[in-house]
Amino acid sequence: MKVIRSVKELSQLTEALRSEGKSIGLVPTMGALHAGHRSLVDRSVKENDVTVVSVFVNPNQFNNAHDLVTYPRTEEADCKLLEQAGADYAFVPTVEEMYPEPDTRQFDLGEVAAVMEGPMRPGHFNGVAQIVSRLMEYSHPTRAYFGEKDFQQIAVIRRLVELLNLDIEIVDCPIVREGDGLALSSRNVRLTPEGRKVAPAIHRILAESTQWVKDLTPDEVIDRVVALINSNEGLDVEYYQIVNALTMQPLSSWPKEGEPNAVGCVTVYCGDVRLIDNIKYPRP
Ligand code: AMP
Repeated sequence: MKVIRSVKELSQLTEALRSEGKSIGLVPTMGALHAGHRSLVDRSVKENDVTVVSVFVNPNQFNNAHDLVTYPRTEEADCKLLEQAGADYAFVPTVEEMYPEPDTRQFDLGEVAAVMEGPMRPGHFNGVAQIVSRLMEYSHPTRAYFGEKDFQQIAVIRRLVELLNLDIEIVDCPIVREGDGLALSSRNVRLTPEGRKVAPAIHRILAESTQWVKDLTPDEVIDRVVALINSNEGLDVEYYQIVNALTMQPLSSWPKEGEPNAVGCVTVYCGDVRLIDNIKYPRP
């Protein structure tokens, strides 16, 4: 595997590969790689001639300076994992290389970005759009891989691709979890031992709530989920919403046959670590 640090080198290389008819899979990450990231890389390696994994902590998508400073950075271990996974290129630029000038573009991301993480993290999705659009421009991918852990992000990326009229297939990949159900996240290393013990309650309660759809409305499920998660000492729900899986708009009733799934999206503070997770609901 080759490590590339320059935008110019990446652009020239991937342009040449595409002109030779090679398919390219792009896996954007912020590093501190774990088995969740690995599942995206594995899938890309299987489905493409060449896989490019970007490792870049994008300052433009952090609305919280403390989160940016404390975000884990483990480049050496990341490159080892990518090499083992069979990735062809790790793109590891500096901030100056990625943004020689400040990126002032504002994207019209529409209704999918106007709820949940949108208002909670002002500027976050615009920052995601800035970096992902650049990565797509520089790596000429056939397909780009994203994890369902960041469920709303996938809807935003689909909107971005439509907005920029890009011919790139967006592939969403299922959430990878610890044995006790906690969704893998680079931020999990920042949990205290007590936090790590209590955090699996989030997925346990979400999974249990899928059995309530026959008896409760979405709003009633939300109330019960929030109360149950908050009853665990050390967990504090920021929001829980049950939304249409495509539009991200809140649902007042469960979807009928043929309509998109209902998905519950949660963010929970465990100490000062912000965890996100989600669950698909069955039809009543
Ligand atoms: P990040 O490095 O957190 O920006 O994540 C990079 C990509 O990996 C995103 O598409 C995430 O959704 C995905 N990802 C992160 N954690 C997981 C997980 N536990 N399971 C599946 N995908 C994940």
